[in-house]
Order: sequence, then structure tokens, then C-alpha cells
Amino acid sequence: MEELQRLRERKAQSAAAAQADDAERAAAKAKKDDAARRKTSAASEAKAAKQRDAEQARRTKAEALARAVADRAQADAEAKQRRQANRAATATAKAQRAAARQAERAVEAAARQAADEEHAQREAEDEGARQRDEARRADLLQQEREAAERRTQQALANAAARAAAVAKLKTEQAAETLRLREESRQLGQAQTAAERERQDEREAAKRVVAEEVLRRRAQAAEESAERERQRLADAMRATEAVLARKRQEQAKALQAAEQAAERRRLAALQPVEVLGRAAKSARPGEVQVRCPSCGHLEPQGARLCSSCAASL
Ligand SMILES: [Zn+2]
Repeated sequence: MEELQRLRERKAQSAAAAQADDAERAAAKAKKDDAARRKTSAASEAKAAKQRDAEQARRTKAEALARAVADRAQADAEAKQRRQANRAATATAKAQRAAARQAERAVEAAARQAADEEHAQREAEDEGARQRDEARRADLLQQEREAAERRTQQALANAAARAAAVAKLKTEQAAETLRLREESRQLGQAQTAAERERQDEREAAKRVVAEEVLRRRAQAAEESAERERQRLADAMRATEAVLARKRQEQAKALQAAEQAAERRRLAALQPVEVLGRAAKSARPGEVQVRCPSCGHLEPQGARLCSSCAASL
């Protein structure tokens, strides 16, 4: 606005300068006219005074010429002054036009800046609106997320409740199964007990039979033992007989040995035929048996070996 004001003032100044030029030009014209009139009057005076004094006329003419020259010089100076003024005015106008252009440019720049600022403000407003939209959308998203979270938690709680119910049912089923198993076990135990009783009865019957068998066996064993005792007694008697016989034989053998020694003592003087021990122990015409265990010779009919007591 200040620029515009200044512009206006400059325009007014240039108008005043133009008016001043016009006035100067008018004054110059008036002076010119005046000079012409004076020239004319000088010519008429000269014409009138032609007869009076040629000298005077020439002088007047010279003076007029000088005046005209001076006028001309003055006019030239004035014209020069005017040209200078015109030049100055032109320069001023140029400067004013440049200033005006500058001012216009400044105004345009200001307008552009204002437009830019307005644009920036609009963008800022748009940005603000967009941010508000985004914030609203984020709020909605957050609400949806929270709702989803709540739904999930609800679903989890439901699932947990269902799982708890299922676990309870399973526990009850397990308890029922245990109870049934216990009943079945008791039943089995009862059956087992009954079975065992029957088994016991059978075994008792078997035991009775076995006892009878054992009793009979014991009886048989007793009888057998009695027989064995008798047999052993027989054997002992036989053994004693054998031993007595052996003692007798040994006594005889000793006697025979003493006799043989006596004979050997004598045989030192005269050789004598010595009989073998086996030939000595066996009586003439007796059949002997050989013990299968030790090889001892026994008389026929002996029940036990007299050397090792093996059964013959
Ligand atoms: Zn024997």
C-alpha cells in the first residue's frame, strides 16, 4: 500500500512537472511573440526614422541585431534548459516507470507469496484434516482391535469353561471307571475265593487220597524195611559166619604159615612144594562165586560179599 501511495505521489509529481514544462513553453512562446513584436516595432521605427538618421537606423539595426542575437542566445539557453529539464523529466519518468515496474513486481511477488502462503495454509489445513481422519481411523481401528480382543478373551473364557466341564466329566468318568473296576475286582475276588474254596475242597479230597496212598506206601515201606532188616540180620549172620570162618582160616593160615616157615627153615635143608593161598581157602569139591564189585571169591550160596558187603 505504501508502494502504491508512493507510486501515486510520483505520478502526481510527474504531472506537476509536465504542467511546469507547459508553462515554461508558454512563457517562451510569449517571449518569442514579444521578440517578434519588438522586431516588428523596431522595423516600423526604423522605417519611420529612415529619413531622420541613417546612422541612427544602422545603430538601431545593429542594436536590434544585437538584441536579436542576445534573444536568440537567451532562447537557445532557455531551449537548452528546457531540453535539460525534459531530459531530467524523462529520466525521472524512466526512474518512476522503473520504480513502478519494481513496485508492480513487488506487488506481484507479494501476491505470489500471499498465494503461496494461502496454498500452504490450505495444504496445512488439508494435512490437519488428513491427520484428523487418520487419528479417527486409528481410533476406530483401536476400538475394533479392543472389540476383537474382548471377543477373543470371551472365546478363550468359553473354551476354558468348556474344557473345565469336559475335565469334570472326564474326572467323573474316571471315578465311575475306577468304581466299576473296584466292583469288578471285588467280584473277581469273590469268584477267586469261591474258586479257591472249591480248589481247597478238591485238594483236601486229593490229600485224603494221597494220605491213604502214603499210608499204604509207608506200610509197604515198613514191610519192606522189615524184610530188609531180616535180610540184613541174615547178612550179618552170614558175615559173622564168614568172619568166623575167616578167623578160623586165618588161624589155620597162621598155623600153616608157621608150619611153612618151619618147613622153609627145614627146606633150607630140603625143598618142599608150597600150596597156593586160593587152593588152600577152597575146600575140595566146592564151587566159588566172584564178587562183581571187588573180585573176592565167595562160596556158592553166599548173599553178601565178605570183603565189601556188596549184594551177590
Ligand atoms: Zn566184594
